[in-house]
Amino acid sequence: MAGPAEVKQMNKGTANAALLVESDPGLADAIRAMFNQQGPYAFELSHVNSIEDAERHLAAHPVDVILLDVALAGTSELDAVLRTHAAAPHASIILLCAEYDRQLASNILQGDVQDYLIKGKIEPHELLRAMHNAVARKELQEPRFGNMNRAMVTLNSIGDAVICTDREGNISFLNPVAEAMTGWTLKEVAGHPLTEAFCIIDAATGQIAPNPMTKALGENSPAKMPVNCILIRRDGQHLFIEDSVAPIRDSNGMEAGAVMVVRDVTLARALSAQLIHLAEHDALTGLPNRLLLNDRLGQAIARASRDKALLAVLFVDLDGFKLINDSLGHRIGDQLLESVAKRLLKCIRTPDSVGRQGGDEFIVLLSDMQRPEDAAIAAKRILKAIAKPHFIANRDLHIAASVGVSIFPDDALDAETLIRNADTAMYKAKESGGQTFKFFQSEMNIVALERQAIEEDLRLAMERSELALHYQPQIDLKSGGIIGVEALLRWTHPIRGSVPPAHFIPIAEASGLMPVVGTWVLREACKQARAWTDTGLPATTMAVNVSSKQLRDAGFLKQLTAILDETGLDPQLLEIEVTEDVLMEHPELTARMFQILHERGVHLVIDDFGAGFSSMSYLAKLPLDALKISQSYISKISTTPEHKALVCAIIGVARSLGLRVVAEGVETAEELAFLKQQNCDETQGHLFSRALPADRLVSLLTA
Ligand code: C2E
Ligand code: MG
Ligand code: MG
Repeated sequence: MAGPAEVKQMNKGTANAALLVESDPGLADAIRAMFNQQGPYAFELSHVNSIEDAERHLAAHPVDVILLDVALAGTSELDAVLRTHAAAPHASIILLCAEYDRQLASNILQGDVQDYLIKGKIEPHELLRAMHNAVARKELQEPRFGNMNRAMVTLNSIGDAVICTDREGNISFLNPVAEAMTGWTLKEVAGHPLTEAFCIIDAATGQIAPNPMTKALGENSPAKMPVNCILIRRDGQHLFIEDSVAPIRDSNGMEAGAVMVVRDVTLARALSAQLIHLAEHDALTGLPNRLLLNDRLGQAIARASRDKALLAVLFVDLDGFKLINDSLGHRIGDQLLESVAKRLLKCIRTPDSVGRQGGDEFIVLLSDMQRPEDAAIAAKRILKAIAKPHFIANRDLHIAASVGVSIFPDDALDAETLIRNADTAMYKAKESGGQTFKFFQSEMNIVALERQAIEEDLRLAMERSELALHYQPQIDLKSGGIIGVEALLRWTHPIRGSVPPAHFIPIAEASGLMPVVGTWVLREACKQARAWTDTGLPATTMAVNVSSKQLRDAGFLKQLTAILDETGLDPQLLEIEVTEDVLMEHPELTARMFQILHERGVHLVIDDFGAGFSSMSYLAKLPLDALKISQSYISKISTTPEHKALVCAIIGVARSLGLRVVAEGVETAEELAFLKQQNCDETQGHLFSRALPADRLVSLLTA
């Protein structure tokens, strides 16, 4: 066929477009003729011979109504209807059929097939009215069709998954996004319970979460999924989802099912987590920034005050970082900061935090501390870690730090003040030369804290064998030989290192530990002296310092006797050194004690003589053996004439009382020469030897 045989019939006014699909030319002519008498109805009629031509025509021209002969060649009645409808879904269709097709036509009558006419019985007026009614009905239906169509297009193109169920909770619809999200197609799961395609768990607990659809259906009201929900896809993949569910009601307001709109927020969550991380962390080191650290500090403070625990803020500032940055460049400076950040992280435990405050400043937050001393331990660890060389750009870089420490609740109760106080303390550390740490506290508090720490550690020191005795030789100035040693206590603390006796002995006295420590010293010294005589070394006296508290302890004499018995040391070889204050505090008691000791054969020496105000008459009554001139006088012999005179006076007193004189702290040949000239008996000092461990002293004794 050479193209569609189209006949157009023009009518006045706004005519509706009509298409006649008719292969019988006679019938086509007859129908066309009827349009000449259109009356009130206006149609613009086109005519085609076949269903194919109809499809082509409809693709190019909008048509309101189609007159379709169902008996077209090459197609079944139903096929003709379906194809026509598919080609013009908005158009109304009126079937032209033979008398015997009436039943078939009435069966097809539904939806878009509006009417049918029996060929040979068509009246012009009836034809036009049927066409007019079909168009009018269609126009009435059009908004509903439009809405439906729009709804379907929307559902199929929106980014959210849409899942509908019927009243029983069985799946009735999945849009393409829902299919992709669940991994199931509508075809596979239509009519199946929702839970088969849509299994959700609570992200926090991992437990199956209650299905919101059931809730919406049960309560006939919109529902929300529990927050933080995970959808387990068909392939097992986990997706974070958010949703809302609403029941669907039919035209009578009855519940007809539910519709659920679900959004995959996995990416959004990851993105927002990343954004939060960026906002809260330092880009260079990856450490929490000031903002996050303040937040963590706030939380830690709340926890610590609830648990009545301590927490410390350590303000760490690098010493001389600017110099490195200026001389080696920012790139190296940055690498150094990164390296420092890593070291700091290694120094802390899990509940603690490290943050970068800015520049070369870091904050370390230590929570859950038992004692402020723990912060000191951490500060030392940090200083040590930072001081180790940093290998950057093929070279070892050295950097030190200053650390300021503030403690909650002692120094402040809020985050801001704690940080400010730690900062102040850090400046104190810098002022004292850097590479050290300082507590933020008044001097009083520092001393109190320090004493407390020392006291606690001292209790453990003996168990941990941290205490030792060193021995300083005493030289006879006439013969030049060693005639005695003084036992001096040494404490090597695992963290503090060597703690001077002048520092910890007053603490031991104040805390009541001195008798225990003193007894240990006495036993140790006596054992050592006995061991030396046993190995055949020349007999030397063993001078042991005894503090006033120790001496006044009720058990002292008994202890001493027991130790002498136990070690078998000749009491003549034991010298007890006491300071003048002992004499002055309880003169009578001391005198009695000295008497007993003297009777036992033990020698008695007044240490640091000249510092106190002992009366000569009192000294004369005591059974003493020697006076020791304090190192503080000896060291000033060469510089001030008054001290020379003082030393001469002490030697004079000793002589008049018939006592030996020992000068201690002799460091120079000049001091020695002066003492010799003044007929001093013995000396002790660095000029000859420092206090040494027993094994090292043996070589001096045998020399
Ligand atoms: P001290 O009994 O007057 O001891 C002498 C101090 O002078 C020792 O200090 C000694 O190391 C130091 N010294 C010795 N030669 C020189 C020198 O040439 N130059 C200088 N600058 N110093 C020198 P150390 O060992 O620090 O003892 C300090 C004080 O601690 C002692 O003074 C004593 O009062 C007390 N102490 C030491 N060990 C004990 C002990 O076992 N028991 C008791 N109760 N007190 C002790
Ligand atoms: Mg002494
Ligand atoms: Mg002394």
